[in-house]
Amino acid sequence: MKDTIRHAGKRKHLVDVLIEKGIKNKGVLLAIEKIPRHLFMDSSFEDHAYQDKAFPIAADQTISQPYTVAFQSELLDVKRGDKVLEIGTGSGYQTAVLCELGAKVYSIERQKELFKRTKLFLSKLGYRPKHLSFGDGYKGLTEHAPYNSIIVTAGAPYVPKPLLSQLQINGRLVIPVGEDVQIMTLFIRKSETQFEKHEFGEFRFVPLLENKN
Ligand code: SAH
Repeated sequence: MKDTIRHAGKRKHLVDVLIEKGIKNKGVLLAIEKIPRHLFMDSSFEDHAYQDKAFPIAADQTISQPYTVAFQSELLDVKRGDKVLEIGTGSGYQTAVLCELGAKVYSIERQKELFKRTKLFLSKLGYRPKHLSFGDGYKGLTEHAPYNSIIVTAGAPYVPKPLLSQLQINGRLVIPVGEDVQIMTLFIRKSETQFEKHEFGEFRFVPLLENKN
C-alpha cells in the first residue's frame, strides 16, 4: 500500500485531463487529486491507474473511468454532511470520493467477495463510510432513507421505483439508464409525486443486476 510523489504527479495530470474534459467542481477535482486510485486496482494495472480509463476489478466488475466518477459526482452536487446512497460499491473508489466530499455515505454491493474485500480495504485507507451493505441495490436501503442524493454506478435497464421514493424533496438521483449503452440521467424530486428529469449523454457501465437469490 504505497503512495509516492510519482503517483501524486500522475494524479495532478489526470486532474488536468478532467478539467479539459469539462469537470469544474473544485471538491470533486480535489478528491481525485488526493485519492490513491492505483491502490483500488490490481497491482498489474498500477502503471495505468491514472489514465482516464475503466479497469477490471474482482468478480468481473470494473472500477469506473475517472471522468465518469467526476461527472456523476458533479451531478450529485454533494454538500458536506449530506446523506448519500451509492448503489454498486465495487472497488470503493467512488465511495472514497463521496467521503472526501464530506458526505455520510451508505453503499450497497451485491457481490459478496467485493463487499468483504472493499469494506476491509476502505477502512485500511482510513475512509469511514457510514454503512456498507451487502444486498440488492434495486431495493435501495429503506432503513436509512430518505437521502439527499443517490448515485447508481452500474447500468440500470430501468429506473428502480424504490430509489425515487427514498429521495428527500429536492434530492437528486444520478443513474445511467439503458441496456447496452446508458444515458446518464438526473432526477430531482420536486414534491411527493413530481420529479424533474435531465439527460446528459451516453456512457457505458457494467449492468445493474437483479438479485441472485
Ligand atoms: N463505484 C464502483 C463501480 C463498480 S462497477 C467503483 O468505482 O469501483 C458496478 C458495481 O455495481 C459492481 O461492483 C457490481 O457488482 C455492482 N452491482 C451490480 N448490480 C448491483 C445491484 N443490484 N445491487 C448492488 N450492486 C450491484
